[in-house]
Amino acid sequence: MNRIALVTGASRGIGRACALELAKAGAKVALAARQLDKLEEVAAEIRALGAEAFVVELDLASGDSIKAAFSKVAKEFGRIDILVNNAGVTKDNLSLRMKLDDWNMVLQTNLTGAFLCIQQVISPMMRERWGRIVNISSVVGQMGNAGQANYVASKAGLIGLTKSLGQELASRGITVNGVAPGFIETDMTGALKDEQKLRITQNIPMGRIGTASEVAAAVKFLASEEAGYITGAVIDVNGGMYMR
Ligand code: NAP
Repeated sequence: MNRIALVTGASRGIGRACALELAKAGAKVALAARQLDKLEEVAAEIRALGAEAFVVELDLASGDSIKAAFSKVAKEFGRIDILVNNAGVTKDNLSLRMKLDDWNMVLQTNLTGAFLCIQQVISPMMRERWGRIVNISSVVGQMGNAGQANYVASKAGLIGLTKSLGQELASRGITVNGVAPGFIETDMTGALKDEQKLRITQNIPMGRIGTASEVAAAVKFLASEEAGYITGAVIDVNGGMYMR
């Protein structure tokens, strides 16, 4: 694929795996997150594959940081064809005790941040009459989860955003899709205790936690030429843990 991709939260976990998959498929990849040193490590992995990588600082909590990051990438690579809104955070608590700051921080990073990133690419993608936007939601955005009202609201919001933008942009050759991972082995789930992981695994028909590269495979497909007639869809990558 002769395309230019930007992946948010590319420094580790699912974002790193998406960046590597897209690079392996031939894309030039811009890697965005807050910690530049971590991004540089991923960029080195990508360059070792013979592909091009560009590292850019991005804090999704700041509209100014988002604008600055996208203009740096546009300057470096000329345009962005593929946007993967992957970065996400959790700040769990029961709703009764949830602080407004924690609600706002999670919504701002996971949902508002993704929306502002999309706003940065809409006009240039329209001019190219080609674009791929992939939003990383979550199985809990589909089924709910006690103790994660803020995170779940952000992930359900991403699904609604995906479907609305899919409708707004379809006639311009831009597809907007989501990927909803189940439990995936990354730093985000690394904090879970072994007994929690066992309980979770018992509810997964495939009987195991997924890998970041299994999520990245779905992202790569949705970003490909071949996925050009798919928009407003959400691909579940969850080992069968939620079937509707
Ligand atoms: P992770 O290992 O915790 O990585 C999160 C990434 O987001 C990091 O690169 C982090 O980099 C970046 N990030 C966090 N806050 C940011 C901010 N304010 N601005 C810019 N970048 C920020 O997470 P993961 O498990 O790979 O998850 C990736 C995505 O998949 C998330 O949206 C998550 O909700 C979703 N997901 C994960 C699972 C799972 O089981 N792991 C399941 C369903 C959905 P910096 O800290 O350097 O900024």
